Amino acid sequence: MVERDADLTKTYDAVIIGSGAAGGMASHVLTTHGMKVLLLEAGKKLPIEQELRSMEWPYDNANRGELPPDRHSLSFNEYTIRRPPYGPGFEKSKHLHSYIGESDYVKNIVVDERENPYTGTNYAWVRARCLGGKTNIWGRLALRLSDYDFKAKDRDGYGENWPISYSDIAPYYDKVDLYLGITGVKENLPYLPDSIFQRPTKLNCAEVTLQQGIKKMGRVLTQYRAGVTSDGLKHNKYRSRCYGRGACGRKGGCDIHAAFDSPTGLIYPAMDTGNLTLRTNATVREITVDQDTGKATGVHFIDSQTMKDYNVRAKAVVVAASTLESARLLLLSKSHRYPNGLANSSGHVGHNFCEHIMGPGIAGRAKDLVGKPPTLDDGRPGGFYLTRFRNLTEKNPGFIRGYGFEGSSGSAMFPRGADTHGFGASFKEEVRRNQGAYIGMGAFGEVLSRYENYVDLDPVVKDKWGVPALRFHYKFGENEHNMAKDMKETAQEMFEAAGFEIMHVSDRVLTEGWSIHELGTVRMGNDAKTSVLNQFEQSHDVRNLFVVDGSAFVNASCQNPTWTIMSLCWRSCDYLVDEMKKGNL
Ligand SMILES: Cc1cc2nc3c(=O)[nH]c(=O)nc-3n(C[C@H](O)[C@H](O)[C@H](O)COP(=O)(O)OP(=O)(O)OC[C@H]3O[C@@H](n4cnc5c(N)ncnc54)[C@H](O)[C@@H]3O)c2cc1C
Ligand code: SF4
Repeated sequence: MVERDADLTKTYDAVIIGSGAAGGMASHVLTTHGMKVLLLEAGKKLPIEQELRSMEWPYDNANRGELPPDRHSLSFNEYTIRRPPYGPGFEKSKHLHSYIGESDYVKNIVVDERENPYTGTNYAWVRARCLGGKTNIWGRLALRLSDYDFKAKDRDGYGENWPISYSDIAPYYDKVDLYLGITGVKENLPYLPDSIFQRPTKLNCAEVTLQQGIKKMGRVLTQYRAGVTSDGLKHNKYRSRCYGRGACGRKGGCDIHAAFDSPTGLIYPAMDTGNLTLRTNATVREITVDQDTGKATGVHFIDSQTMKDYNVRAKAVVVAASTLESARLLLLSKSHRYPNGLANSSGHVGHNFCEHIMGPGIAGRAKDLVGKPPTLDDGRPGGFYLTRFRNLTEKNPGFIRGYGFEGSSGSAMFPRGADTHGFGASFKEEVRRNQGAYIGMGAFGEVLSRYENYVDLDPVVKDKWGVPALRFHYKFGENEHNMAKDMKETAQEMFEAAGFEIMHVSDRVLTEGWSIHELGTVRMGNDAKTSVLNQFEQSHDVRNLFVVDGSAFVNASCQNPTWTIMSLCWRSCDYLVDEMKKGNL
């Protein structure tokens, strides 16, 4: 892999902002088409294998895998009781992290909340400012959307349809499957299309029991569709196939890169084309514009370490800083010509913000597995996915749209059921006897896209680099709360149908943002008055500006978004290249 310095005197064909799933995919597609591309990433390039240390045993870690004492990660109550940017009460911790930063393996991947404040309504905002962004630690569940999502308005009258159908994106899902690798089992479900799967993982005993128990209810449980290569990828020398080491269950990623991450999956191969220049520690604070033509001319960035300012020019600007940061960047890019922020003639930048509601879930025990010898169950990159079943054929009286459950069972390196009561040898024996019998699952449901859920710039608070912070105006509504109650009830009825002993069931809703699936702040659409981008994620207002991450989503669906972000991005970048060749940009 050839690393070269950014040449700030030249005009690149394209500059890409952000190196996560979206920025990585844009780098891959544009460089494969021969474009000369500069990729700017605000964070560092970390020695990622040393950070993740996937094979380290707990007893080899000074803190048993927990954070060192000078760091703190926020708990559920700390999000709800104290408001960001987390002032009084946290002085003792030198570094403060979001709830996901609770392990020694992710402490340098997630941001320090104090350096990156935000304000407004409660929101558990998880950010990873480093090469690869959140893909270094993502949960790998890789699902497709269907016309039940793209054309959801046709079904229930709410919101807007997407300007594309499943048939527009299906060929790009196929390309992403083949280029990155995905495991799973075909189910032929119209509302959750199959991928081109590599070798699947196996369900274990309790999971099969649940699968069979709910079949009679017409519900489907399938193997976790993991964005992991189980057979290997001959075209990629940076990634290994999955050896089922089970380390992905621990918060932290895969240090042999069987699980997809953007650097090894997309960016390093793009650098090998000779067409990609990567500049890390480059915090973009504005997209620059020619005030006469209205076109984007490049970007203004700050070196994240030296604080020096730089400008770079490009024929096209591709924004991929993640849903909320991309909206922030457009709002920051105000000028005489664009006084409301760039690409914002509709006034929709920052609005229609949506995601997934989380919290309700269940834990139980398959009693006939108690006392059975342990099996190697955590040697898998995921457990199961219980697919959506609400508002497909019937109309639920309490809410529209749907939800699915993620879950798992079986023996694991860190035994489940550690909340078992007792002391000493008898306690250990109790944990051992039960651990393979536990099964649990939690729901992810669609949060409706609403104009009144939005982000804007805080007029006072700035981050460490002097850039105005984002301010949240975002709350779950009645539809989400009704859905959460239903999640609890259906979880209970399904565990009962499987014959499990129920140990804990909850409809407690976690803080907004907990799902880390933020979407929709720069949505696409056919009408430039109510959307920011067209179906190719190109700005309606500025034709050489593209926004290719989850901000382009029209609704959140209930499926995890990353596979769709990358498929849409591939399609948009193909279009960008075509338009540039035709001289239309
Ligand atoms: C613990 C965890 C579990 C998850 N599980 C799943 C899952 O199972 N399935 C799923 O589909 N998704 C999952 N996700 C979400 C998934 O990681 C995101 O959808 C995906 O990474 C989004 O890609 P992105 O490129 O938009 O953003 P990111 O991956 O966040 O990348 C954005 C990049 O832009 C950079 N950046 C931001 N601002 C600037 C700026 N001003 N200048 C320059 N660079 C900038 C950031 O530093 C970052 O590197 C999970 C996430 C986490 C953290
Ligand atoms: S189970 Fe597979 S994907 Fe997960 S950490 Fe191990 S090798 Fe990586």
